Amino acid sequence: MRATRDGRPLAALLLDLDDTILDDAAGADEAWALAADGLVARQPGLAQAEVVVELERARSWFWEDPERHRRGRLDLVAARYEIVGQALERLGRPDAELAKETSQAYTTLRDRNQRFLPGAKEAVERLRGLVPAMALVTNGASQPQRAKVERFGLAPHFDHIQVEGEFGLGKPEPEVYEHVLASLGVRAEDCLMVGDNFGADVLGAQAAGIHAVWMNVRGKAKPPGRASKPHWTVQSLEELIARLV
Ligand SMILES: [Mg+2]
Repeated sequence: MRATRDGRPLAALLLDLDDTILDDAAGADEAWALAADGLVARQPGLAQAEVVVELERARSWFWEDPERHRRGRLDLVAARYEIVGQALERLGRPDAELAKETSQAYTTLRDRNQRFLPGAKEAVERLRGLVPAMALVTNGASQPQRAKVERFGLAPHFDHIQVEGEFGLGKPEPEVYEHVLASLGVRAEDCLMVGDNFGADVLGAQAAGIHAVWMNVRGKAKPPGRASKPHWTVQSLEELIARLV
């Protein structure tokens, strides 16, 4: 059997990695709660609830800015150091050493919690047999993204793996998608891009002429102010397969 999009044979499937194949939120809340415990233990007198609030505030502040986001996803430990440092500052307890230790401990914990989204391992294997070519297109630094590819044995399923930190540009830049198409030797209109990030994956692919599927794993509302519509919205790769065959 061969995959089709609305009756047309698909030449290639482009997949995002985090929150499309792997669960990128696994253990995040738990890890931040443990980070808060650690900060309270080392800075007596701080109220746990207050620490949690300031950590949340610092995370939102850090990730909402596109340039900080780009810088942060290319160096997650540095991003987390800045987040914890900012929270400690607002709590009136600036402590660079503690911020450094906490960001490293948090990162270790998050890495340990990485896992496939339910059914995603089998779905990727199945897709490999349904589509002539597959590309993995992921933002982030080379080291952590390659470590995930290795840990979860993903490389054999893809003809092309493109990591922001190696290519030099990240989604949604059109050059990212153009390079993927050229590497696979396929035309944009014969491809499908699947990813959870509405801006980077859906709008980015569409800007390059590629039909895009929004992977809405957690059933979120579509980001406001986005006129563009994804070709399909799915909640899992299994649901995508059902559409393709
Ligand atoms: Mg993603």
